[in-house]
Amino acid sequence: MKKLLTMMLVLLTFVLSCGSKTEESPAAEGEKKVTLGVTYYKFDDNFLAGMRNDMNAIAKEKYPNIELLENDSQNSQAVLNDQIDTLISKGVDVLVINLVDPTAGQSVIDKAKAANVPIVLFNKDPGVEALNSYDKAWYVGNNPQESGVFQGQTIVKNWQADPAQDLNGDGVIQYAMLIGEPGHPDAVARTEFSVKTVEEAGIKTEKLFEDAAFWDTAQAKDKVDAWLSGPNGDKLEVIIANNDGMAFGALEATKAHNKKLPIYGVDAIPEALLLIEKGELSGTVLNDGKNQALAVLDLAHNIALGKEPTEGTEWKLVDKAVRVPYVGVDKDNYQEFKK
Ligand code: BGC
Ligand code: CA
Repeated sequence: MKKLLTMMLVLLTFVLSCGSKTEESPAAEGEKKVTLGVTYYKFDDNFLAGMRNDMNAIAKEKYPNIELLENDSQNSQAVLNDQIDTLISKGVDVLVINLVDPTAGQSVIDKAKAANVPIVLFNKDPGVEALNSYDKAWYVGNNPQESGVFQGQTIVKNWQADPAQDLNGDGVIQYAMLIGEPGHPDAVARTEFSVKTVEEAGIKTEKLFEDAAFWDTAQAKDKVDAWLSGPNGDKLEVIIANNDGMAFGALEATKAHNKKLPIYGVDAIPEALLLIEKGELSGTVLNDGKNQALAVLDLAHNIALGKEPTEGTEWKLVDKAVRVPYVGVDKDNYQEFKK
């Protein structure tokens, strides 16, 4: 009898220990609720509105255990700072932050560090130094230099294929540059590397106009409208925009002046692909928001469960950042990117 009791006890201990083991298994852990405090610098940014949709769709499908607490920072860093405080006090597992002020990376990471909450930044690169100041800080974005190079390559390809683009026949591209936002790493690199790539292909350039239009269609339209109305307006041959949103504004302005000029954007948002199809936009570059959204969620989910950020994923961290590749897009390949 005593023997039987001992055996039953052993069996019971075994069953119980098995039970507690399954609770710790990855499958069961995956069911744990994960709360992410997400902020966007503004909801009505062309590119980020798409990325937000993607993030919601991916969370719903791939991570039903994730709850996204979404915030619109309304283009104000002060608003974003308050939102971070509130999210921390709500006890979110991970902060998922799109900076407003591109130079605020360090102070935002300091805030997360002081509260010991992990943080994944996206879209506005805080820089490696700021990331290195906190072991629980990471970035998901792209390599902006690449987008400038692709944009430049498309400009070269079209310029060489169509000599009529050289309106005054001097062999030089007289261009205008619409800058996204001063100090934004994407804007800085696109502005520099688009033109550099054209020059490196042996084509001379002359900058007629350059100004910031803050990624925004209406502001870009006003700028281009003023340029075309000015004394050098007729000399303009090519318009380069740091994003599609501003390229749309440039297109509206040229139409209003009864002009047709080659216009280039970046992002490859659906409206841009339609305009390429119609021959109204000459090129763009895929800024892969869907894969950036996926990388953000993969990392944040792992981090919330105490795993290595890229565990079980294809993402590679270099200097604490995942950088999703860009792809050049024009009339020859836009169909591959239509959703
Ligand atoms: C996108 C822009 C967007 C900006 C916002 C860039 O990567 O190309 O369209 O407005 O990010 O930060
Ligand atoms: Ca010329």
